[in-house]
Amino acid sequence: MAENIDPVPSEQNQLRREQEDDMTPETWNERWKQGRAGFHINHVSDMMKDQKDLLTNGREGISVFFPMCGKSFDMKWLADLGYKIIGVEYSEIAITSFFQEQKIDYTTQPVDRMSNCTLYKSLDERIKIYQCDIFKISSEITGQVDAIWDRGAFNAIMYKERRKYGEMILPMMKADTRYLLLTSIYDKSQMTAPPQCIPIEEVLEIFGARCTVQKIAEYDDERDIFKKKGLKWIKIHVHLLTLKIKI
Ligand code: SAH
Repeated sequence: MAENIDPVPSEQNQLRREQEDDMTPETWNERWKQGRAGFHINHVSDMMKDQKDLLTNGREGISVFFPMCGKSFDMKWLADLGYKIIGVEYSEIAITSFFQEQKIDYTTQPVDRMSNCTLYKSLDERIKIYQCDIFKISSEITGQVDAIWDRGAFNAIMYKERRKYGEMILPMMKADTRYLLLTSIYDKSQMTAPPQCIPIEEVLEIFGARCTVQKIAEYDDERDIFKKKGLKWIKIHVHLLTLKIKI
């Protein structure tokens, strides 16, 4: 059963501040350059396979937004099923690797009225990825979307920038948009970010006023990188966010 959550952040969490690991878009790009992309999943994720029906809600051919998309296999999988993919990613290396590794031919073009932003498009135009800082993107550029798959995006944003992230993504939502937000949960005394450890109170702090938030699943994150860091457990919580209806 889905769990409805009261959108009131606890006082303790309002006061609490993340232990910041200063990751800039350039630091991420360096990681891509050095092949240190331990966050990348080298296949279609089980989470996507399990949650696809919840994400799409039976709507065929809908648009799915992948913020900070890396070179996620999930994009190609959904595109092959007929969905329209809109991604945003800062690292050009990640984007070109995506198209090359997935054997997808693409074109590039500058984006109107935006400096430092290039649009990569598959020839069939099912996959569009904007290469730029996520904070330069707005609903005016992407349009509103039918679904959002947020794995490793909100989770990579530092505490101090999360509100700005919310302000970027919320206008992309319309009444029937389904936003699946995946967060990591672990014992912070055992590891520092990334990924950030994001308890539900911190999801509600950013999205609770505008969205109904339901935790719908949790997974053990079995990736070796975390075991190597000495972490005893790490979980991924999946939340469904939908806009609250204004009456
Ligand atoms: N969503 C992907 C990648 C998650 S890792 C997946 O599930 O595999 C976080 C990604 O965000 C990295 O690819 C990094 O290059 C990108 N990134 C970090 N900061 C960014 C920013 N400010 N704007 C756009 N992309 C950013």
